[in-house]
Amino acid sequence: MIDLVGQKFTRLTVISMHHLDKYGNRVWLCKCDCGSDKEVYATTAELNIGQKISKRGKKSCGCLQRERSKKANTTHGKTYTLEYKTWEHMKVRCSENNKDHEWYFDKGITICERWLDPTNGFTNFLEDMGPRPFPKATLDRIDSSKEYSKDNCRWLSIQDQQRNRSNVKLSKTLADEIRIKYNSGNFTQHELAILYNISNSNIWSIINNIIWI
Ligand SMILES: [Zn+2]
Repeated sequence: MIDLVGQKFTRLTVISMHHLDKYGNRVWLCKCDCGSDKEVYATTAELNIGQKISKRGKKSCGCLQRERSKKANTTHGKTYTLEYKTWEHMKVRCSENNKDHEWYFDKGITICERWLDPTNGFTNFLEDMGPRPFPKATLDRIDSSKEYSKDNCRWLSIQDQQRNRSNVKLSKTLADEIRIKYNSGNFTQHELAILYNISNSNIWSIINNIIWI
């Protein structure tokens, strides 16, 4: 009989043999490193498996899994993905092969070298712009004739963008811009209606190439 008392398995230290389960396996009472008062029971097999195989067996009171999922959510989870998507979309928009190249590439809209760096491009972008301050924030160029860079970019809400455009009248140019925005997949019809202060039905007609074509 192996005595596990005093032995340590990842975060769990075995305190005593507590009871036998219905299969006759020894169940040990353990204490977790994190200091939690939660009582942790584990069979010999669970402890040994936990030690050797990463995803099975018991290794903590549950704190380890909680820390891991928290970390995943903040570094590789949703926040990370949203900024990464914005950065990717920006690069696609400015590429020569983009179907909307006449609006970006042909106009000489480029991206600063810092954000295009092959190894640190995204990290630099995130460092300069910071995380998206709220879910629907979009990357906006302050001077729309200039490049994407720290000095010329900001995160804006749809409402902010709308305010910037309060006096804009519907035109062919604007309709084209609306179609580009809609096709980018970043805006719903309703959001575009708010953004441009145009009725939902007009937005629908523009998107479906019924007016201003
Ligand atoms: Zn714990």
